[in-house]
Amino acid sequence: MLLNGKQLADSILNSLKTRVDDALKARAPSTASSTNRLFLAPGRKPCLAVVQVGHRPDSSRYVETKTKAASRVGVDTSFSVKLADNVSEAEVVEAIQGLNANPEVDAILVQLPLPRSMDQEKILACIDMSKDVDGFHPANMGLLARWGEVARQQASQGNSLPRSNVPCTPLGIITLLDHYSIPIAGKRAVVLGRSNIVGLPISLMLLHRDASVTVLHSKSLQVEEHVVQADIVIAAMGKPQAVKASWIKPGAAVVDVGINVSPQTGKLVGDVDFEAVSKVAGYITPVPGGVGPLTVAMLIQSTVHNFCVKYSL
Ligand code: NAP
Repeated sequence: MLLNGKQLADSILNSLKTRVDDALKARAPSTASSTNRLFLAPGRKPCLAVVQVGHRPDSSRYVETKTKAASRVGVDTSFSVKLADNVSEAEVVEAIQGLNANPEVDAILVQLPLPRSMDQEKILACIDMSKDVDGFHPANMGLLARWGEVARQQASQGNSLPRSNVPCTPLGIITLLDHYSIPIAGKRAVVLGRSNIVGLPISLMLLHRDASVTVLHSKSLQVEEHVVQADIVIAAMGKPQAVKASWIKPGAAVVDVGINVSPQTGKLVGDVDFEAVSKVAGYITPVPGGVGPLTVAMLIQSTVHNFCVKYSL
């Protein structure tokens, strides 16, 4: 079965639009006065600010897609910042601090990768963690890492994620698995890749949802032997069509995060050999049209969430 991320992302964006419209109607200025809730100025919308440094064509394309999705839902992106390749690290930090201090900004995203000369960790750590919509701030990563035990102590199993900002691509993957009712608890999951953006946070999220998780990376040995035992395979290596049909347990759910240009055809391909693997897998995401659109939908969802939390909507 095809896991249609594009279709799910469309329906999430449609629901978000309704949620934003309804929330703003319900909080017309006259209805807000008698409560302790923060005053919501007329015309104030949820607001996402994207910080782009340089003019990489792929980054510009991603920013454009995010901006389009935002405007479809009624999310304002007018505070987004585009800086030249040759700005200093201090100028990037200053731009972020300006957005941190701006009460009209609910969510800040720094488009990665930054120019090589910049200290990415330092820059991500400057973002106000309550506005860090990508969830890459070390404190938000820490909250995510610690969440499983917290949730178990509070006996709040089920949809177990912290209320803080969490990375969008892994959140999209969990949303996709849940939408198609693919069981996670007790299942064997193999994650190919351990990056801070995808591999590590999705491993944590699957673990918090009670999967037994194996994380593989470029130094892992006998990769195929691990993958073939998995009920859920998350491929996030950036290696075009590396996951072969012989690696997949019949019926497994295969989520392909990879976005690569095929060296043979020049077309966009994932990390999974889709044609062959789809004959063995029970569920599989296409590339494009799988995880990518959900990453964008989760970004907008988290922006709206931050706005609603701030104004008690
Ligand atoms: P990354 O930072 O380059 O990390 C790649 C990871 O894969 C590393 O942990 C690496 O191991 C591991 N790896 C490399 N070769 C491997 C192998 N043969 N077997 C097992 N693991 C291997 O990449 P990323 O940012 O996580 O992105 C991964 C892919 O997802 C890319 O194609 C990227 O474009 C795509 N992506 C898609 C979305 C989306 O929305 N669809 C979002 C983000 C990224 P080491 O740690 O040992 O180096």
